[in-house]
Formats: sequence, structure tokens, C-alpha cells
Amino acid sequence: MKKLIFATHNQNKVHEVKAVFDGFSVQSLADLEYSQDIAETENTFVGNALLKARHVFEVFKTPVFADDSGLEVTALNGAPGIYSARYAGEEKSHVKNNTKLLDALVNESNRIAQFKTIIAYKDATTEVTFEGTVKGVIAKQLSGSGGFGYDPIFIPEGYDKTFGELPKEIKLRLSHRSRAIAKLHAYLNSIT
Ligand code: IMP
Repeated sequence: MKKLIFATHNQNKVHEVKAVFDGFSVQSLADLEYSQDIAETENTFVGNALLKARHVFEVFKTPVFADDSGLEVTALNGAPGIYSARYAGEEKSHVKNNTKLLDALVNESNRIAQFKTIIAYKDATTEVTFEGTVKGVIAKQLSGSGGFGYDPIFIPEGYDKTFGELPKEIKLRLSHRSRAIAKLHAYLNSIT
């Protein structure tokens, strides 16, 4: 089986990927006992995903992919964007982030937003990126306890419930991350 590293410490993401990547042996940074935090110093999703993939490729010399995601709100000119995790401060509190976003939109009628994921893949000869998005609107209040991050305030297009309320199978089918991962999977199958 072809070896592939997923440059993340997030075990939930690793489970999602391992479930759909048949034919590949996917290892996370935890599997490799690599605990160093890779600082995301670029100012775009693409820049940060590439930075992580390049860093881990230099260490392990094995094909690797890395992701960077966030929420872009149209009325806020794309904020919180690459700062999604720390929108309300360095403690990275999902509750505070959601409260800050709802406050920022309190008098705003344009509630259009999208989640975006960029995946960067790198091996000895190639560097390539894939994008996945899911469009929707920001709810007026928090609803549901499923998922994480902004899920309780994000209503995907075509639905009237938040990702926090919808069954996790639906989020998995629609999500920005799933869509980017599907593109990576198709690409890997086309080159092997
Ligand atoms: P990451 O780059 O995947 O770690 O995502 C950065 C931040 O974006 C997270 O800490 C969340 O605040 C937000 N985010 C990314 N993906 C999702 C999602 O699927 N649901 C809710 N929030 C998300």
C-alpha cells in the first residue's frame, strides 16, 4: 500500500480520511510521534497548507498532505478567514468565536458565508493544492451541539438547520473538507 502522511494532529480529521482512503496507508503526525507544532505564518489558506506540507515532507521525505480551513463571511469581507480558530483570541474558544461573530452580524441582513478548505499535497516531484467549499448563511443564534467550531451557527445552502443540528452524515457529505479530500483522492488515484 502506498504510504501517505496527513500533516495534522487532529484525530477527528484523520478518522474521516482513513475511512475513505482505501488503497493508501495514511499516517497522522500522532502516528509518527511528531509532536512539534508547525506555526501557520502565511496569510492565505493556500500558503499555510503548503507551508505545513513542505515542512513535514522535509522531515519524513514521504508523500504528505496538509489542510487549512476556515469560515469566510461576505459582509465581513471574508473574516474570520485564516483567523477562524483565534477570531475571539488566542485561547481559541469556539463559544467566544461564535458569540463574537453573531455580535458582528447583529444588524446585518447579508448573512452569506462559506467554509473553505485548502489541501496541499507534496511529494518528491509535485506540489498541488485542492479547494473544497460549502456555501450557506450565518444563523441568528446558536442551535445544536453537533460538530465543532462554527457548526452551531452555520446553515448550509438547501437546509434550514445548522451543521450543529443536522446529522453528522449530512455534514460529512456536504462539507468543505470532504469535498477537498475527494479531489485529493481522485488525484492520487489518477497518478498511481
Ligand atoms: P482548521 O484549519 O481545519 O483547523 O480550521 C480552523 C478553524 O476554522 C477551526 O478552529 C474552526 O473554528 C473553523 N472550522 C474549520 N472547519 C470547520 C467545520 O467543519 N465546522 C466548524 N468550524 C470549522
